[in-house]
Amino acid sequence: MKHFTIILFLFAFVCSSATAQYRNFFTEKSLRIDFVLTGNHLQTQASVFELKQEPYWGGSTVNTIDAFEYGEFRVLVKDSTQQNIIFSRGFCTLFEEWQTTDEAQLMDKSFFQTAVCPFPKSTVHVSIEKRNKAGKFISLLNTEVNPNSYSILKTNTNKVTTHKLIDNGSASECVDIVFIGDGYTMDEIDKFHADIKDLSEYLFTQTPFNKYKNRFNIWAVDAISEHSGVTDPRKNSWKNTAVRSSFNTLNSDRYLESTHTYLIRDYAGLVPYDQIYVIANTKKYGGGGIYNHFSLTSVDNPRSKTVFIHEFGHSFAGLGDEYYTSETSYNDFYNLNTEPWQPNLTTMVDFDSKWKPMLDKDIPVPTPASEEYFNAVGVFEGGGYVSKGIFRPAYNCRMKSNEAPGFCPVCQHSIEKMVLFLIGE
Ligand SMILES: [Zn+2]
Repeated sequence: MKHFTIILFLFAFVCSSATAQYRNFFTEKSLRIDFVLTGNHLQTQASVFELKQEPYWGGSTVNTIDAFEYGEFRVLVKDSTQQNIIFSRGFCTLFEEWQTTDEAQLMDKSFFQTAVCPFPKSTVHVSIEKRNKAGKFISLLNTEVNPNSYSILKTNTNKVTTHKLIDNGSASECVDIVFIGDGYTMDEIDKFHADIKDLSEYLFTQTPFNKYKNRFNIWAVDAISEHSGVTDPRKNSWKNTAVRSSFNTLNSDRYLESTHTYLIRDYAGLVPYDQIYVIANTKKYGGGGIYNHFSLTSVDNPRSKTVFIHEFGHSFAGLGDEYYTSETSYNDFYNLNTEPWQPNLTTMVDFDSKWKPMLDKDIPVPTPASEEYFNAVGVFEGGGYVSKGIFRPAYNCRMKSNEAPGFCPVCQHSIEKMVLFLIGE
């Protein structure tokens, strides 16, 4: 008991000194760095579009340095001496997915991107880095940010109603999910709230989210669309909606995304948030989720709930797709000569860094896809869009199919670690 008390005391001390450190460097608002990514299958350039101050920081004030090294990109914030990293966060983009398509071999294209960090109290140095083919982060964009500069925008023109639908405490000690509706007209706002209720109730029945149900806040931003439903190019159906979601992203019919990142961030910034979820008011099957960017799903399809949580696995915990049979637009998405950063995929280049400690000692590696191993943690070949050279931890998992019973133990473990990081534990 005595030891336990000492541990608790030490934990409280570490937390309070981390929070004091946060207060030395940051305010309770956030800095939004809007930038543009331009390039093709080989090249990437980044340039600043504009900087914004937003009213809330929704993340932890204890854990400001990224503990995971997930993501194809990362943002680093250094103090004015450039000696100390005071904030870092990994993230992914639609741009890097596009870079693996046939189109990227033929032309250049630009994508809007945003990184957020707590708003600094004095001048800081911000860098955006992208991984090279070998998986090493390389600097892409560097800028000094003086928090008193007049060029940092402080306006948000959105005058929409927001609601805290589930309130379990302060943003820095909870995971805050902000839901933004797309394709909901003024008359459909009650449906928007009912859809959020349905999806979040489902989320909190699923392991491990059920375990942390009382550490999540749920927000709704009542974005109003002129038209009901969202754009579906293959049906020649074009809709004017709040955040311009569309099927057929990267020429994949079921890939539902929005390229209007700044619009989405403008809505999200009205509340404190860790994660953005756009829900599209349509029954057509589809969705998308990009790590620390946002998730999207349609709401009225019979499989919407499993798509909803699958996409959240990507955007929340950096989980990779464990499937390999479905049609995607990607070419060589993973380099088989390096270990992918996704916690639930391995090329076996550095399996020691992955779920090796979770394997029972009598599990064969690779693990045969036979019935005796259907419920085991193993190393099953096939995942990350290819049937050879990439391995996944379970025969079936929510990151593999809508029919799986839930997330596999490795994905569950990764989700739990992310929840604890975001709630500052
Ligand atoms: Zn899994």
